[in-house]
Amino acid sequence: MMAAISAAREGHSVLLIEKNEKLGKKIYITGKGRCNVTNACDFDDFLRAIVTNSRFMFSSLRGFFNRDLMEMIEEAGCPLKTERGERVFPVSDKASDITRALEKILRELNVKIKLNTEVKEITKRNTENIVPEAPKADDASGDSAFKDTDEGDFELRCTDKRGKPEIILSRKVIVCTGGFSYQTTGSTGDGYRFAESFGHELNAPTPALVPLELLENDAKAMQGLSLRNIEIRISPVRNDSKTVYSDFGEMLFTHFGASGPVILSASSYITRALREGERFVLHIDLKPALTKEKLDERILRDFSENINKNFENAISKLFPLKLLPVIIKRSGIDPHKKVNSISKREREKLISVTKDLSFTITGTRDFNEAIITQGGISVKDINPKTMESKKVKGLYFAGEVLDIDAVTGGYNLQLAFSTGFAAGRGC
Ligand SMILES: Cc1cc2nc3c(=O)[nH]c(=O)nc-3n(C[C@H](O)[C@H](O)[C@H](O)COP(=O)(O)OP(=O)(O)OC[C@H]3O[C@@H](n4cnc5c(N)ncnc54)[C@H](O)[C@@H]3O)c2cc1C
Repeated sequence: MMAAISAAREGHSVLLIEKNEKLGKKIYITGKGRCNVTNACDFDDFLRAIVTNSRFMFSSLRGFFNRDLMEMIEEAGCPLKTERGERVFPVSDKASDITRALEKILRELNVKIKLNTEVKEITKRNTENIVPEAPKADDASGDSAFKDTDEGDFELRCTDKRGKPEIILSRKVIVCTGGFSYQTTGSTGDGYRFAESFGHELNAPTPALVPLELLENDAKAMQGLSLRNIEIRISPVRNDSKTVYSDFGEMLFTHFGASGPVILSASSYITRALREGERFVLHIDLKPALTKEKLDERILRDFSENINKNFENAISKLFPLKLLPVIIKRSGIDPHKKVNSISKREREKLISVTKDLSFTITGTRDFNEAIITQGGISVKDINPKTMESKKVKGLYFAGEVLDIDAVTGGYNLQLAFSTGFAAGRGC
């Protein structure tokens, strides 16, 4: 949608082809239905939030950044608000208002929209061999500005909902087909196929911003438990002292392992290595605000207030209910032991479990649960200013189909909008 807007602003006659029955199907489910449309942080912080190919993004972000997007959407009648962490949402908390604003701009710019039309194949015709009568299917009559043209370098073989074929010709093509994630929204990886057919290289598409699978059964036993204000650290199994990712915030245990904001963000830094067989350890600091000494003081205070109680009852204020059996088991302390007989060494073990509750990460969930796809069309063959292919003149790529991705917080939509804008302007 943004690529179409920007190309139309450049004076091009634009046809937007969408296989779904409506535009922006994925937008409706973004930000839990509220659409975290961008992040209002400054440029340097934004670049730091990009996990893959931040240098490639430099130009397109400079050309169309968060403020430009916010201004455009607000001018189209959708007021925005900025929440914690500079996350930007529509004031209405309705993702559909973002789509509506973009559709309004598309209408104002006379962009033709062709819904229920799936592009099956894109080929480039040898322009020297263009025949005066462009090849078209029987039904290729109608209102498209792209039919009956003799200036179409690209041939797009499409089908409608019932499988009826149609050929659309165009001088330039911008491929914005998304990645592999949440395929019911339409992103089924078609753009990867198109790119490969033109000789583009693909970096293996991998689920990212995705829940993690954990080995230990006690993690699964805590399903439904949400932990706030915890710190996580991730290290390779083979080198525990190395930190691959660390974060502070919220996480959730599930029937397969872990999810929640810090886990999703962490996944982006390990997903590729996990696919290659590497194993990681998730270390959770349940009390990051307390040093080991302060935590010991707190435990001693709880013990002294519960002098005649069993260990399991004396620590009940320190941990959520679902966490207690795991802490008790891993501390190795008899749950029925009276607290006045717990040794210093036992307390040290309790502290160590609290400051470092660890689990083995065995893998990620699949694309159906991945917010984004990491990997995609290698950016080495894409011009970062215009998004034009360096291999095929007149062919452009934008959005998640490219090998670009960022953490959560509105960054990924901005990457799509900025590259889409650059492609439209570049063509
Ligand atoms: C659950 C969820 C929540 C998210 N929340 C946020 C958030 O709050 N903030 C944020 O920044 N990011 C969020 N994201 C990520 C963000 O939605 C994507 O990164 C972004 O939508 C990518 O935009 P895109 O235009 O490249 O691809 P898409 O949005 O996937 O759009 C691609 C479009 O191309 C169409 N298409 C594909 N193939 C063809 C074909 N062959 N012919 C015709 N049409 C085709 C598809 O139907 C689709 O409409 C979320 C993602 C998910 C899954």
